[in-house]
Amino acid sequence: MKSRVEQLRETMRQGQIEALLITGPENRRYMTGFSGTSGYVLITGQDALLLTDSRYVIQASKEAPDFEVIQHGVNFALTLANEIQRREIRQIGFEKEVVTFALYEQLSSQLQGIELVPVGALVDRLRQVKDDGELSLIREAARIADAAFDYILGFMRPGLRETEVALELEFFMRKNGASSTSFDTIIASGHRSSLPHGVASDKVLMKGDFVTLDFGAYYRGYCSDITRTVVLGPGPSVQQNKIYSIVLEAQLRALENLRAGLTGKQADALARDVIKSAGYDGQFGHSLGHGIGLAIHEGPRLSAASEDLLVPGMVVTVEPGIYVADFGGVRIEDDVLITGDGIEILTHSPKELIVL
Ligand code: ZN
Ligand code: ZN
Repeated sequence: MKSRVEQLRETMRQGQIEALLITGPENRRYMTGFSGTSGYVLITGQDALLLTDSRYVIQASKEAPDFEVIQHGVNFALTLANEIQRREIRQIGFEKEVVTFALYEQLSSQLQGIELVPVGALVDRLRQVKDDGELSLIREAARIADAAFDYILGFMRPGLRETEVALELEFFMRKNGASSTSFDTIIASGHRSSLPHGVASDKVLMKGDFVTLDFGAYYRGYCSDITRTVVLGPGPSVQQNKIYSIVLEAQLRALENLRAGLTGKQADALARDVIKSAGYDGQFGHSLGHGIGLAIHEGPRLSAASEDLLVPGMVVTVEPGIYVADFGGVRIEDDVLITGDGIEILTHSPKELIVL
């Protein structure tokens, strides 16, 4: 198997990019293995450099043994300019989605005479297909999230605030190996469950509420992302039951048919068609899913506009939902690995409607 640097050089050659400056935090970590929070990577045809400041030099040398670690001063662009001039590089690509205007100004003032070329998501595209090491970390992140869901079912009850539920969930994940949550925990109860991204508020859980829990563990750099919706008894009401069954059917339909070779658009339609024919088309406003890995949202996109092609090794979420304003909403989300002959589901929490 080719190293990540070799794979990147191949795509650089195809794009006629002489050298590439990598500034995205996940891309830096992916290319080097360095887990510190500050640094710049330069890949040329021959060399692989990691520039970081004095706080991180020792850590970087340990974590990125295949890289030449260089300590930069207050002005990193000056150090970069020296390295580039020594190598007689004429052209350097930068990540246009990541580089701020301020950094661009800094680069162009230090790198005079060198052509700066904006490039798209080269490293991001490599990151979409996971290797075995990455998969085992995502599996563990998913395992922690499943355990947390099981645990929180025994904790949640009417009278608690959403924030108390979130805190308990997060504390459990930390105690079980997560270094943090992979994003801000969503606990959306009652009418708030109609907010697809309702992060936990001080609303108190009430009898009869739908409660949507959308959360994930961050484990050694990798994310999991799971959603379950439960109802606080007595219940469920007829309408709660109806909406839940439609979302569940849509999710199961997508899981049954998801496979390599589909585009993101085709994958999205698997679930959307079920919701549409049930008459809730306008209430499923977001896309079916997204890739996960070092970042909580990465490629490929499973949306009505996505031409991304699914291939084995990608890990994506499948998360249809229905949201009815002033009433409530339901979302069910799993993480799945695209395999050679279908998918493997990585999150295993139960999906029948749980009444607490
Ligand atoms: Zn989620
Ligand atoms: Zn998600």
